[in-house]
Amino acid sequence: MDSPSKHVFDHIRFNDDLGNQFLCAVCRNPVLDAEMATPCGHSFCGFCIEQFKANNTATTCQMCRRPVSAFCRNLFANSMLATVEGECRWCQARLPLDTAKTHVTQCDQIEKPCDLCSQLFKRMEIQQHQQECEYREIVCECGTRLKKKEEANHNSSTCAFKEEPCPLNCGERVKRYLVVSHSLQCSAVATVCTVKGCNKIVRRGQKEEHISRDQMRHFSLLEEEKRNILWEVNKRVMLDIELKCTGEVAIFKWNLPTLPTRGLLRCSPLIEKFNRKWRLLLTDKAVCLEYIQGVHPIHMHVSFIIKMADGKAHANIVRGVNLAEGSMAKHTINMDAYSMRNITAKMEILEPELC
Ligand SMILES: [Zn+2]
Ligand SMILES: [Zn+2]
Ligand SMILES: [Zn+2]
Ligand SMILES: [Zn+2]
Ligand SMILES: [Zn+2]
Ligand SMILES: [Zn+2]
Ligand SMILES: [Zn+2]
Repeated sequence: MDSPSKHVFDHIRFNDDLGNQFLCAVCRNPVLDAEMATPCGHSFCGFCIEQFKANNTATTCQMCRRPVSAFCRNLFANSMLATVEGECRWCQARLPLDTAKTHVTQCDQIEKPCDLCSQLFKRMEIQQHQQECEYREIVCECGTRLKKKEEANHNSSTCAFKEEPCPLNCGERVKRYLVVSHSLQCSAVATVCTVKGCNKIVRRGQKEEHISRDQMRHFSLLEEEKRNILWEVNKRVMLDIELKCTGEVAIFKWNLPTLPTRGLLRCSPLIEKFNRKWRLLLTDKAVCLEYIQGVHPIHMHVSFIIKMADGKAHANIVRGVNLAEGSMAKHTINMDAYSMRNITAKMEILEPELC
């Protein structure tokens, strides 16, 4: 049935000069479903009677104001409507007015408002519309009930089940409710490299790459760590040896090989002294004592005595030099390195340098 506020004769046209006997005294529409008030005998259409009853005005006749004891069906008035024709405003069908109510409930062309959005649709279209109406309720996969028109906004801002790009920019798309657990394995999460001393911050996804690129660096860091551990272990032992070395002097003589070409670096054989390895280096500009291998730095004097081809000798001393493994004591020369015959290095330990 149409909404109660709509009168059947809003949809069905009837002849304007219909006599009073066909019309309801209150609404001036044809007396459809007429009832008569007793005892006064005034008749009203079914629609108006319903209004009286709803408004509690059914105890008084709305025409003559006399009390009403009862309403009864006015069969005569109803049957009269079968003799008058009207026309449907929507489908233009012509029909006897007593069938108006039936027609209104069946006419395909009548427009009705959608219960959800109040837009008007023909009866035949309304079912279709209600499947698409953007005010209809839907249930999202996350369990939220919402109107169809709110769906896009819900999906883009609040729905926990929808994916969005990982906030750490790893490139993956992640359902909102899984963002926290994703971050536990997200390849964009950066951590400090676990190799001691590396200190580089590496994204989880680039760990392999870092390991292969920094392989040599890691290797020397690990070596250094190993050395440090070893040093801790051997400190006491080494200290004893070191103390014994204090004040010791080692003299090493290097007869220089003659080389056909200038500009070459010349290296002495390995010198093993004070539990360490050393060698002498000679370039055009300097003579050096290199500390090749040893557990910790050493504090010493180094003297170089350089003997020339003409028999002259030059002596020079580098005093109180601190040498760590891989560094050298250097003495700059201003004579021709190719006229030298031999170099004697005198190494003197001053005191143990402990870290
Ligand atoms: Zn009426
Ligand atoms: Zn009356
Ligand atoms: Zn119709
Ligand atoms: Zn609608
Ligand atoms: Zn949702
Ligand atoms: Zn991620
Ligand atoms: Zn690293």
